[in-house]
Amino acid sequence: MLEPNIDQKKFDVDQQGFYGEFGGAFIPEMLYPNVEYLRKHYLEIMSESSFQNEFRALLKDYVGRPSPLYFAKKLSKEYRTKIYLKREDLNHTGAHKINNTIGQILMAKRLWKNRIIAETGAGQHGVATATVCALAGLECIVFMGEVDIKRQAPNVARMRMLGAKVVPAKSGSKTLKDATNEAIRDWINHPNDTHYIIGSVVGPHPYPDMVARFQSVISEEMKWQLKEQTGNENPNTIIACVGGGSNAAGAFYHYLENEEVKLVAVEAAGLGNETGHSAATSVLGSKGVLHGSRTLLMQTSDGQVIEPYSISAGLDYPGIGPMHAHLIRSGRAEVFGATDEEALLAARKLAMMEGIIPALESAHAFAVLDKMTFTENEIVVVNLSGRGDKDLATFTDFFKF
Ligand SMILES: *Cc1c(COP(=O)(O)O)cnc(C)c1O
Repeated sequence: MLEPNIDQKKFDVDQQGFYGEFGGAFIPEMLYPNVEYLRKHYLEIMSESSFQNEFRALLKDYVGRPSPLYFAKKLSKEYRTKIYLKREDLNHTGAHKINNTIGQILMAKRLWKNRIIAETGAGQHGVATATVCALAGLECIVFMGEVDIKRQAPNVARMRMLGAKVVPAKSGSKTLKDATNEAIRDWINHPNDTHYIIGSVVGPHPYPDMVARFQSVISEEMKWQLKEQTGNENPNTIIACVGGGSNAAGAFYHYLENEEVKLVAVEAAGLGNETGHSAATSVLGSKGVLHGSRTLLMQTSDGQVIEPYSISAGLDYPGIGPMHAHLIRSGRAEVFGATDEEALLAARKLAMMEGIIPALESAHAFAVLDKMTFTENEIVVVNLSGRGDKDLATFTDFFKF
């Protein structure tokens, strides 16, 4: 086993796949050849000009990038500061997840894989994966807990419309972690023709780094957009919600080593951290191994994963990516929690004030505007990771429209 080489001031992944003491690849032996092949080749493949050209062209013409950086005038006035929104909600399929699945489908083709598997909780990563499989003409199998299939019927219909096969996971709690187990089992049984598209900066190395690099287009664009609009490519503060952490990783990526830029990660605190119904992993979690990496996760004293809770399906994850575990524990990123109710109210405020309905996940990032203090000339970027169409039933229930 490779041991981490701890450097608290380095925020990028190291040669062994560690971020400080977090990360690595803790996988069953049967998966070793697949993961090892990917580890050896991902950087070289991603740097090929044919890969870069294809990736960039799809991001531009298919996804609709660059996503705008919008100066939110009324919100800025309300909080007496300068607030910019990075509009990932305007991407094709409605969130940042497509940036990663586009990258990984191009990777799969270069690894000569023609069968794609994925796991999904709320169905958002499943839809993003089914979308790129349709685009590339590859077979798509999405594992999803039986309970989630019932709860997330519109996304299941979308995946099927796109030609994906949705396979119910019937073990355990019949939710995301059971779907992940099924996906890993499938991968073990189909090592040669199958690529596993993981949806966040989680899983064994090199997945967290690969996904972060695909999502890093977010902060790459932020730099020139800020330069254009403010004269300075650096904001003072970047705020993003964290489930596994991929939209936050993308929004932070090009600023990780620039400690003048404050990074704020927002976790879902559900009904409150003391209630036993929360998903605030960095507060409630402890060190352990989840989905192939050493990270912070919510677990019992004997190491059983505790089911997280959040009203927002995308943040309802028992762990946090190893990059974020390191950013938070080393003090590079500051972490806040936002409850269900705080997120719902923040979503309504953004909708009424700016005419933008955010995804419930993204609304958690907006909720911390009430918990922080800003100066008048501070430049604050909030990563608006997705749009709220999928959450309208939840909004309607809560606000009793
Ligand atoms: C899935 C999702 C998230 C959470 O995933 P991360 O990997 O933490 O980004 C956040 N926002 C939206 C809109 C999502 O769909």
